[in-house]
Amino acid sequence: MSTSAARFAVQHTPQSRVSTVDFSNLPFGICFSDHMLVAEYRDGRWDDPIIKPYGPLLLAPNISALQYGVSVFEGLKAHRSPSGDILIFRPRDNARRLNRSSARLAMPDLPEDFFVEGLRELLTLDHQWVPRSDQGSLYIRPTFFSVDPSIRVKPAEEYLFVIFTCPVGAYFNAPLEVLITDDYVRAFPGGTGDVKPAGNYAPTLIAEQNARNAGFHHVGWLDGTERRFIEECGVMNIFFVLGNRVVTPPLTGTILGGMIRDSVLTLLHDMKLRVEERKFSVDELFQAHSDGSLTECFGTGTAATVSHIKRLHYKDRDLILPDVEQRTVGPRVRERLVSIMTGREPDPFGWTELVQIGASATL
Ligand SMILES: *Cc1c(COP(=O)(O)O)cnc(C)c1O
Repeated sequence: MSTSAARFAVQHTPQSRVSTVDFSNLPFGICFSDHMLVAEYRDGRWDDPIIKPYGPLLLAPNISALQYGVSVFEGLKAHRSPSGDILIFRPRDNARRLNRSSARLAMPDLPEDFFVEGLRELLTLDHQWVPRSDQGSLYIRPTFFSVDPSIRVKPAEEYLFVIFTCPVGAYFNAPLEVLITDDYVRAFPGGTGDVKPAGNYAPTLIAEQNARNAGFHHVGWLDGTERRFIEECGVMNIFFVLGNRVVTPPLTGTILGGMIRDSVLTLLHDMKLRVEERKFSVDELFQAHSDGSLTECFGTGTAATVSHIKRLHYKDRDLILPDVEQRTVGPRVRERLVSIMTGREPDPFGWTELVQIGASATL
């Protein structure tokens, strides 16, 4: 049976797996919802997306996504509102960012509606996979990659766009300990640090592994030119609170412009805090800590929204920040953002996109 309102063709799974999922104890990123959206690009045009059961794709070993990393992705979340409806956080902005990423890899534009309307249909169909907001959220992973059957290094001609989703728990994230490295860099001027190609992530794994082996959670990334300025933390943007000022590095081409970064900046302005988008060096970090002006540090990203950072380490220098209970800016901005995302508070910024599920369909 196909959904009458569906704009895209739907192949239903013969048997939903949702009843086998323990929503009170969700593992991260290994449990996927019943359906996925797939669209093909060939001969210079997109075919209409199809929604079908989640499962493996049949791919040739020579595709340039595998050989040369011709692949970009997005990450966003949907939350269950108090009324049982679903709220997607900033999907149109993610669709635009996906197209900035694809343009950088000489890939074609994806119609924004494939992303936004396709996602709405996918979530309408798989609405039972969206956890109650006290139990977690639905993580959404749009992926756009080349399936060109050629090992010539050139812009590709055939692509797939896939959206799959997975329910994730409302995990408590302990304050993070961060190892600032100058052994490796994540991005450099003229590179791809400001977009989300798959190829940005594999080269960071060795640094993340080293950090974990040394007892840290994440790597603090420095700029690729002078290795002096702090740019990001793991796959998060980073913020420093200095008295009544909040500092975050500017988007000058080597930093990924996160949706959470942008939303946090908007909320900080709304909270009448003084916000500075400017370079922030390791020297200034340790100076601000020793003169007592550095009171908080946090990372931002879709996975954990706002992650408090309690320790930063660079070479033989180490600093510990006040307990989260003593902080004001990070916890307040996190609470406000999560309230908007989950529909507990009105959304004056137009960030959330409502997918109406209706009383009959609520859990
Ligand atoms: C995706 C990503 C972020 C966070 O972006 P959000 O849109 O806020 O989730 C930050 N840094 C890097 C390197 C990323 O890839």
